[in-house]
Amino acid sequence: MNKTLINTLPTKEGFFGSYGGQYITADLKEEFDKITDEFLKLKEDKNFNDELSYLLKHYCGRPTPVYFAKNLSKKYGCEIYFKREDLNHTGAHKINHCLGEALLAKKMGKQKVIAETGAGQHGVAMATAATLLGLECDIYMGEVDIQKEKPNVDKMKILGANVISVKSGSMTLKEAVDEAFGAYLKEYKTALYAIGSIVGPHPFPVIVEHFQTIVGIEAKKQFFELTNSTPDALIACVGGGSNAIGIFNGFLNEENVKIFGVEPLGKGSKIGQNAASLTYGKEGIIHGAKCLLLQNDDGTIAPAYSVASGLDYPGSGPKHCYLKEIKRVEYKTVDDIEAIDAFYELSKTEGIIPALESAHAVAFAIKYSKENKNKKILVNLSGRGDKDVEFVLKNYKKADI
Ligand SMILES: *Cc1c(COP(=O)(O)O)cnc(C)c1O
Repeated sequence: MNKTLINTLPTKEGFFGSYGGQYITADLKEEFDKITDEFLKLKEDKNFNDELSYLLKHYCGRPTPVYFAKNLSKKYGCEIYFKREDLNHTGAHKINHCLGEALLAKKMGKQKVIAETGAGQHGVAMATAATLLGLECDIYMGEVDIQKEKPNVDKMKILGANVISVKSGSMTLKEAVDEAFGAYLKEYKTALYAIGSIVGPHPFPVIVEHFQTIVGIEAKKQFFELTNSTPDALIACVGGGSNAIGIFNGFLNEENVKIFGVEPLGKGSKIGQNAASLTYGKEGIIHGAKCLLLQNDDGTIAPAYSVASGLDYPGSGPKHCYLKEIKRVEYKTVDDIEAIDAFYELSKTEGIIPALESAHAVAFAIKYSKENKNKKILVNLSGRGDKDVEFVLKNYKKADI
């Protein structure tokens, strides 16, 4: 595998093969090209990198450990390791790119960050980073999600963010992105748009990817220290794809490492029952970029569903579409029930309650272990499950609890 996979993609126009790009209006394009230039400069700037490294270490708690899950490994006949992104401040990998984006905004002289959120995870991480760096923060959130995710809405407010209710269309994530883009267009002189995953128009996928790559850099080194080798298999869940690309980037050029992205199969393979866009999607455009996209027969964007709301997006990061096309990464699916089982299983065997998103990766690691004995498996545990406990007990309570 050659280095181009990490270092020279995307093209100047933001394309990974035929995916990505900038399908946006001319005035937005002009502004986004400016952001690209500033980002490319700042990512090489020593002061910027020193300040970010300081925050990642002393505020987030990085490096997060790689942990050998002895009990789970013994039970399923493989060596299973977890990259503990659940141990970050705010409980998931999202803080990595939120701190990067907020610092970028500050260095660009902006006073505000504007972001969308679905379940509220990106909103909380963004509100955290913004308040830390003294920036205003506007979070656009669908009214349906606001009703569903009250604890996260409360957290954002405590952190000082303005939560703006979006009442168009299905009143969920897709409309929140549309409205946040609209607001940004009016405020771009004083604000920076801070997207929640490696999606949207160029340069956002590369910005988020850059700030998540720390996960893969750390993991590669830590895994080698523990095992004197690389993993046989690397596994991460894929919503938009930011936690997955972060850890994958540490290993894409290691030909012996099999890499798996795990998508949510939800309640089944029919349109509307899942959010597995890399598995069931067709080429299409969402939020200013071309990607594999869940679509109805008439080409309209289909609703996405997963028990894990952080995976519930009808599109996918353009780099994942490309990694699928060149067959460097295999994309697999795990359904709601398998994810719930893995949520309980990891809790009971290792004393780690995973986020439902991350439980998809755990479920696939267990499946893989049953079929491939004595392999070394590294799983990105993208977040902790505190946020999901109430929901799981209400809807999927086990008889012995
Ligand atoms: C948001 C989220 C995800 C999904 O987003 P990606 O961009 O695909 O990483 C996965 N895990 C957790 C814990 C999340 O909060």
